[in-house]
Amino acid sequence: MRSRWDDAATKNLDGLDLLVYASRLVGAETSLVVWGGGNTSLKLAERDHRGREVRVLRVKGSGSDLKSIETKHFPGVRMDDILALLERQQMGDQEMVAYLAHALQDPASPRPSIETLLHGFLPADAVIHTHADAIVSLTNNDRAAEVLREIYGSDVTALPYRRPGFLISREVAVTFERHPEAKAILLEKHGTICWGATVKDAYLSTVELISRAEEAIAHRGKGRVRFGGAAVPPLTPEERRRVASSVAPALRGLVGRDRRVVLAFDDAPDVLDFACSSEAALLSTIGPATPDHTIYTKRLPCFVPVDDPRDPAGVKAAIQASVERFVVAYTEYFTAHNTAGAALSDPYPRVITVAGLGMFTTGKDRRTAGDTSRSRPGTPSTWSTGRSSCTSWPRPRRRRSCRDA
Ligand code: ZN
Repeated sequence: MRSRWDDAATKNLDGLDLLVYASRLVGAETSLVVWGGGNTSLKLAERDHRGREVRVLRVKGSGSDLKSIETKHFPGVRMDDILALLERQQMGDQEMVAYLAHALQDPASPRPSIETLLHGFLPADAVIHTHADAIVSLTNNDRAAEVLREIYGSDVTALPYRRPGFLISREVAVTFERHPEAKAILLEKHGTICWGATVKDAYLSTVELISRAEEAIAHRGKGRVRFGGAAVPPLTPEERRRVASSVAPALRGLVGRDRRVVLAFDDAPDVLDFACSSEAALLSTIGPATPDHTIYTKRLPCFVPVDDPRDPAGVKAAIQASVERFVVAYTEYFTAHNTAGAALSDPYPRVITVAGLGMFTTGKDRRTAGDTSRSRPGTPSTWSTGRSSCTSWPRPRRRRSCRDA
């Protein structure tokens, strides 16, 4: 990963403005965070409501995206209130959210990130937390700690997966104290935590950490056959576009019966590697090992086996059969786990992988369709990123039914 930091651009920036600058650099890197994911922070001296100087954590607010973040999206949380929580052993999410609301510099500011304490418990001034693909790739397995040790030695220390909240933040604080030599803390199946005395230090530390992971992944992948090797030869780029354009309206009609849906198509080399592989069908039944991704992708993708990817009519029929099977299976899955009695509003797949052709992803708009593409589920996440070949089809004005599609 290359550093995007530009000293000339930051010459007149300091404090929160510098944090905004760095946050946007992190957000611009789609292999680090999906929309809304990851968070950044900076500890500053500010005045509280009584004019006293206090130390304040400026941390990303819930529901904002790093790529386009502004200063107003960083609520200030008083550090003395945060540090008082280190005495606790446990704290529920609701209690934590209510507590932090009392610790805000401005009660009207956005709610601070659910990962606020993870930032606040670390003594460094600047902290950057990402959900980097490279780290997820290295740790979505049962020997994550060993893999990380081989790559980083004692430069980083890692924690097993635990969902975001109070306990993981506490573990991060304890780990930091026990390993003063560590330059970063990695959260298995989750991401990175890097810090520094300045925002630039934390950013460059993140870049270095990810670069080492990427090199290790490239090195390990050399000469290895992925996903069991190719089972279906991919079509040429022109043929892929021809068939994809021909079947896309029908697919959009199938998955957009009840709501507006934007469809994106991705036939990047790594996507094709998977879509054409002999293990694609099997791997598509496993589910993502990264919980973050299910927000966009659902638990499983819909894999479409096809006899002849050059034949649009055959591909269309295969897609219809696979989507219908998916809907039945998803409805059963939803019903079995629906203890809250919620209504099933969307039984359709978000990711549709077609052998020989590529991958369609869906979303309520172009942005979410693209993020679904970035969260490719059901597969070992050893793919590179950088979607250069994503095309999207907005829904036509006329509402399509399954039949007329
Ligand atoms: Zn996180």
